[in-house]
Amino acid sequence: MSTTSTDTRTYGHHIGGRSVPGDAQIERRSPATGQLVARFADGTPQDVAAAVESARTTFDSGVWSDLPGAERARVLLRLAALVGERREQLARVDADEVGKPLRLARGDVDATVAHIEYAAALAHELRGDTYTNLGPAYVGLVQREPAGVAGLITPWNFPVLSYGEKVAYALAAGCTIVLKPSELTSGSALEVTALAEEAGVPAGAINVVTGRGATVGQALVESPGVDYVSFTGSTATGARIAAAAAKTLKRVSLELGGKGANIVLADADLDDAVDGALFASFFNTGECCVAGSRLLVQDAIADAFVERLAERARRIRVGGPDDDAAEIGALIHEDHAEKVLDLIASGTAEGARLVCGGRRLDGEHADGVFVAPTVFDGVRPEARIFREEIFGPVMAVTRFGTVDEAIALANDTAYGLGNSVWTKDLDTALRMTRELQSGTVWVNTTIDGAPQMPFGGMKASGYGRECGRAGLEEYTVLKSCVIRSGKRDPFFA
Ligand code: NAP
Repeated sequence: MSTTSTDTRTYGHHIGGRSVPGDAQIERRSPATGQLVARFADGTPQDVAAAVESARTTFDSGVWSDLPGAERARVLLRLAALVGERREQLARVDADEVGKPLRLARGDVDATVAHIEYAAALAHELRGDTYTNLGPAYVGLVQREPAGVAGLITPWNFPVLSYGEKVAYALAAGCTIVLKPSELTSGSALEVTALAEEAGVPAGAINVVTGRGATVGQALVESPGVDYVSFTGSTATGARIAAAAAKTLKRVSLELGGKGANIVLADADLDDAVDGALFASFFNTGECCVAGSRLLVQDAIADAFVERLAERARRIRVGGPDDDAAEIGALIHEDHAEKVLDLIASGTAEGARLVCGGRRLDGEHADGVFVAPTVFDGVRPEARIFREEIFGPVMAVTRFGTVDEAIALANDTAYGLGNSVWTKDLDTALRMTRELQSGTVWVNTTIDGAPQMPFGGMKASGYGRECGRAGLEEYTVLKSCVIRSGKRDPFFA
């Protein structure tokens, strides 16, 4: 692996422990520089069939699924160490392909290591249950088994981290895997898979097929050889996947889009809340499923708060992987930038006040796909920028009077992934954690996670959980065994 962005990396699929070249290739240009940074194999349904066959044979052989948890844990810990050692190279791969600052990509690698380490701890702890109260002749065993072959589909915004959030837990549970990363950012999945085999994951346990969602992803979801699908991506694709999986009655977990609210009450620590609001909307260039892109601010402090926000937002440094001062990066590609700019135009057209940003950046940014951090004030709940996931650096500010109004506004969305609240009042904070309809609620912080905390959505943000014990258990199935000793009383005369 190289640490400079001048090399073009070329990858095949990874099937049965070998790199398999594709018949055709997908070229990836960095959205920050326009440079060609990677070529990925453009997969076919036949590639998916070969990968599923490999994962199935490996699962059935027991070479991974029958290993004691402690041994799977040792392998995962070796993988965590290897990923940590290759931090710089892996960060480079994601930074180039996503167009994000290296500084951010390094953080993603660190979080990935934490997930793999935690998954190793869970591999030790994987267990079922025993009932000894079924009567003296009985014992009831609730056995927890690996789900089998897991089909994993990931998006482009946090490629290496998505790998940590899915593959590490699937491995800890004893599953074997076919992974389809985003066609735009497949490099780190292939790099980490090579490291996993170096760490001792048997060939065939992790298979990666790169290529397009409509062909590779679809074939994976429809394959009768796949037992369970874990998908992260947009709500529209999630709905298609749930429908496709229904044909083979596959269980699916869907981590989908969001439109989080970041609620600032008048009694909040305003220094913290300003920084938190910027982070909620602009972290990872706003390409973040849990972005708090709707800022709900209480009337009493709203004017001063928006002024401070705008002053800070104008100073955010936008830049590519090699800009050490950059705080946010490029958007993922031109089409996405057009969608973001269209939503920005709708903001003004629907009556909101553009406070700052609102344009494509040129000059030193002309080679890449960069949009200025944008703040709209006076956004009405009917507006598109209040309702639609923008997935770019755009904050929509809406003001409220009472806590009841704030809760109603926050919940007035189809989505339910993450919401944040800033207040010093414990009663209000607790009430918010109960009444906000989302899989995560943050109080006096935002977009903070930990491997221990299950992550997932409500409403159109999907179902199922990743990470934490609940995330591991998604990759398992329960089997109830009722065992009787002695002779059974006859039922039939
Ligand atoms: P996307 O278009 O839904 O794609 C996600 C993945 O699904 C990609 O690998 C894609 O492949 C694949 N795919 C597309 N069509 C498919 C099909 N018919 N069958 C199977 N797979 C298919 O989403 P994205 O644009 O990559 O990512 C952004 C979205 O992800 C946002 O909505 C964001 O909120 C969401 N997201 C959610 C979470 C979460 O944890 N809740 C985390 C991150 C992102 P190709 O890209 O190769 O077409």
